[in-house]
Amino acid sequence: MSHRIGHGYDVHAFCDGDHVTLGGVRIAHERGIDAHSDGDVVLHALCDALLGALALGDIGQHFPPTDARWKDCDSRVFLRHCAALLAERGWHVSNADITVLAEAPKIGPHREAMRAAIAQELGSEIERISVKATTTEKLGFVGRGEGLAAEAVVLIDRILR
Ligand code: MG
Repeated sequence: MSHRIGHGYDVHAFCDGDHVTLGGVRIAHERGIDAHSDGDVVLHALCDALLGALALGDIGQHFPPTDARWKDCDSRVFLRHCAALLAERGWHVSNADITVLAEAPKIGPHREAMRAAIAQELGSEIERISVKATTTEKLGFVGRGEGLAAEAVVLIDRILR
C-alpha cells in the first residue's frame, strides 16, 4: 500500500447576502460570500488537499477565477473533478479531516449534512470524513467577522501492484 498526504487552506470574505455554502450545504446567514464561484471554503480547501496529495497543483490552476465557466459555480463540480483525478490514478481517500474557522454561522447543526455531501462526491464512506469547527476567539479577520476560512488534511491510499 502506498500513502500520500495533502493539505489545503482557503479563505473568503463576507459580503451582502443571505446565505453561505459550506461543504456543499446551503446555510442561511445574515451575510453572503464574496467569490467568483459559490465560495465554499470547505470544498476549496478539500480540493487543494486532494490536488496537493496528487502533486497536481492547486484549485486556481484547474479552475481559474478568470474563466467565466466557473462564475457562481457549485463547488461540488470542483470536488467531483478532483475525485475523478484521484480515481483515474488508482487512489482512494483513506480519510479527510476539515476544520472550519468562523465566528458564525454555527457549523454544528450542518456538520452531518456536510460530511454526507462530501462522502457522496468522493465515493467514500461518511466515517472517513471529519468536519470540525472553531472560532478564533474574536481575533484576526475571522474573529472580526470579515470572512471565514477552512483547512483540510487528506490521506490517500493506492494498492501497489
Ligand atoms: Mg476559494
